[in-house]
Amino acid sequence: TDLSRIRNFSIIAHIDHGKSTLADRLIQRCGGLTDREMTAQVLDNMDIEKERGITIKAQTVRLDYTASDGLTYELNLMDTPGHVDFAYEVSRSLAACEGALLVVDAAQGVEAQTLANVYQSIEHDHEIVPVINKIDLPAAEPEKVKAEIEEVIGLDASEAVLASAKSGIGIDEVLEAIVKKIPAPKGDRDAPLEAMLVDSWYDPYLGVVILVRVVNGVIKKGQQIKFMIGGTEHLIDRVGCMRPKIETLSEIAAGEIGFITAQIKDISQTRVGDTITTVKNGAATPLPGFKEVQPVVFCGLFPVDANDFEKLRDSISKLRLNDASFSFEMESSAALGFGFRCGFLGLLHLEIIQERLTREYDLDLITTAPSVVYKLQLTHGNGEMELHNPADMPDPTKIAAIEEPWIEAVIYCPDEYLGSILKLCQDRRGIQKNLTYVANRAQVTYELPLNEVVFDFYDRLKSISRGYASFDYHQIGYRDGDLVKMSIMVNGEPVDALSMIVHRGSAETRGRGMCERLKDLIPRHLFKIPIQAAIGGKVIARETIAAMRKDVTAKCYGGDISRKKKLLDKQKEGKKRMREYGSVSIPQEAFIAALRMG
Ligand code: GDP
Ligand code: MG
Repeated sequence: TDLSRIRNFSIIAHIDHGKSTLADRLIQRCGGLTDREMTAQVLDNMDIEKERGITIKAQTVRLDYTASDGLTYELNLMDTPGHVDFAYEVSRSLAACEGALLVVDAAQGVEAQTLANVYQSIEHDHEIVPVINKIDLPAAEPEKVKAEIEEVIGLDASEAVLASAKSGIGIDEVLEAIVKKIPAPKGDRDAPLEAMLVDSWYDPYLGVVILVRVVNGVIKKGQQIKFMIGGTEHLIDRVGCMRPKIETLSEIAAGEIGFITAQIKDISQTRVGDTITTVKNGAATPLPGFKEVQPVVFCGLFPVDANDFEKLRDSISKLRLNDASFSFEMESSAALGFGFRCGFLGLLHLEIIQERLTREYDLDLITTAPSVVYKLQLTHGNGEMELHNPADMPDPTKIAAIEEPWIEAVIYCPDEYLGSILKLCQDRRGIQKNLTYVANRAQVTYELPLNEVVFDFYDRLKSISRGYASFDYHQIGYRDGDLVKMSIMVNGEPVDALSMIVHRGSAETRGRGMCERLKDLIPRHLFKIPIQAAIGGKVIARETIAAMRKDVTAKCYGGDISRKKKLLDKQKEGKKRMREYGSVSIPQEAFIAALRMG
């Protein structure tokens, strides 16, 4: 295709502003699918994505559009992941495009994630086309939102397209704006091959499928290619595009986006941001922008029923086929038996994997306290170590210093909630960097230790702002912290799964909270159960569960027998979901509930 007839673009938006609905409309308008095939939100192809309304795996669709100038254009629509945990994947998707549609909800206006995405888009020199969506809503205020886009983002919004993706208003105007405003790609099809690996996923029929943006040269079937950073070589057996149905092509040339397959078995060989070139007469240096993604949040996943361990191993391996950014290794715990220590890009990523294991693979799981990665400086010239699991914390005398990861967070909210949000950040050791207002909305920037955010920050933020605050963050490096390991002991025995690294200043509050919650969560036994939080050997908080006075069935003696049986059955049922801890049984729910900071 003639470069001047190609447009590569993505859609950026805050969650729920209508990105997927608009994408569906564009596909429908350009005839990519028949009405029957046009189920809702074709780009979000996993159940969980649909339910949470987020897009995890970037996908791309090629559309043919005949514009008002009578010419037919090839539009490549790149769908980008919608959540901060996948920021690097987003950045690679954006790097594959020349422009973006900025979708803003006409009733909600600009939100934190709109901002974060739009700044990235600007960094990639994108031409940005504002689209004000949901103008069908009675609460829509398109003029106000236009002004907000100009004031907050500094983009000219005078020609913003007014649309309703749901009712199909303004769709042609969006397509015309794409053709007229977004620049055509540049590139030299006669130069050595340079293609950026934008995304990859595992397909049961095709194996590993790789989405590429060809920057220079041409990629086609039969070529021997190599990954310049990954280092492996492969024979291309198919090139194609998605409309969104798969279509085989003879080539993908400079300026174009499409997919390739090359009989790759393992997705970990395909790193997002890597450069693909030919083995013979290839490019000399990789394209800029590659970054190694590392898991930042770790936790243990254990089967409630020890017999499910093999099933868990299988299920985790299957999930990993499609997600190279999550890691796992076997772990054993005195309390929980055999399980896996897993690493995730962030909390949402953790929740997604956990939910898929529970839902798609029907597993009952215990998740241990999420932990960030600490860097320890050891004494006596013993160097440095990374700590992924509080259980592996060395003796305090062997530690010279502990560093923890920090983030910069941008929170955007109606100003009536600002007071409680500032307090929340302050309580979590936040350092306020900036505070600005646009109309009655506040935008506040904080530096926060990631440790303080992984527990329940996001839930708290949502609840104190009634869902109106939005939150976006990126990591800003490691800083020294006064951190200690807090252990929880039940009946004198440490419960590994509940130990955590905390800031010394908040250890007592956290410890007390944990003991109080456990007191309510662990059922009474025939004996007294002390619950303690300790740092090193020193107990910082304690609670006691009083002994049960009589057998639970005692009150039924003399009563009817079926009632007694029912009660016993109920107890048995409860047992299954309990963990024996020495002589104490802890219900599965207690682990999860105890980790929620109140
Ligand atoms: P995304 O998270 O940005 O992909 O948003 P979705 O496309 O999933 O849309 C979020 C919700 O807004 C869904 O319930 C859509 O049906 C609804 N929605 C999308 N576009 C419009 C629109 O133009 N008008 C109205 N009233 N609702 C819309
Ligand atoms: Mg979506």
